[in-house]
Amino acid sequence: MKLAFDIHTAKNYKSASQKVRVLTEQWVDNSIFCPNCGHLDIDRFPNNQPVADFYCSNCHEEYELKSKQNTLGMKIVDGAYHTMLTRLTSNNNPNFFLLNYDLTNLEVTNFLVIPKHFFVPEIIERRKPLAETARRAGWVGCNILLNYIPQTGKIFFVRNRREPREKVLAEWKKTLFLREEKKVSAKGWLLDVMRSVEKLGKREFTLDDVYIFENELSRLHPDNKHIKDKIRQQLQLLRDGGYLKFVGRGKYQLT
Ligand SMILES: [Zn+2]
Repeated sequence: MKLAFDIHTAKNYKSASQKVRVLTEQWVDNSIFCPNCGHLDIDRFPNNQPVADFYCSNCHEEYELKSKQNTLGMKIVDGAYHTMLTRLTSNNNPNFFLLNYDLTNLEVTNFLVIPKHFFVPEIIERRKPLAETARRAGWVGCNILLNYIPQTGKIFFVRNRREPREKVLAEWKKTLFLREEKKVSAKGWLLDVMRSVEKLGKREFTLDDVYIFENELSRLHPDNKHIKDKIRQQLQLLRDGGYLKFVGRGKYQLT
């Protein structure tokens, strides 16, 4: 895969933001296959489509592209807060392509896809309304909190200029069971426990290991008085989805 942008495509654009948009869209169009079905050619929606930027003509998955200069960081600025929440609760949000570029060398440093089933209201942060003096005074945007998304939900085509993309299809498939959970509140729990398990950083772990996160999970879900029961239940759901297995006597193993 070529990491450099094809700068000729943007030569007729004057503003820097337009140039970046054209270069990044062109790069995705040329370089990225559909992470859901492997179809080599994903298509661009006509501009100004309200939600997504790309779609796969084979499996009909939709993708929104966001790009960010320099580092990936912890947050990505996105559009209107309320629109985002409505999309999440009605399950019609697209998958999310995140392109991170280096403007000095005009090339891609990171490119990842976050499957739409990792989007829950907890990862959306409300920004301050725009000031009275702004053209769109009072408008409220949002940030996507990348650090609240489990690592499993960040599937890299390019990572620090390297290309681990042969794993993309398998990694995508591994998380598809999350789509079966339609209620976003229930999914929030699943993702919280998934993130806790990842923090342990080991392939095999015990129930007691996960209970370490009891206080943290209790802060995230203050209404729940039975955190340990909930943890066990979520581990069962993660097992049913094939994300981990029980290996006996309160021991678990990531698959
Ligand atoms: Zn596809």
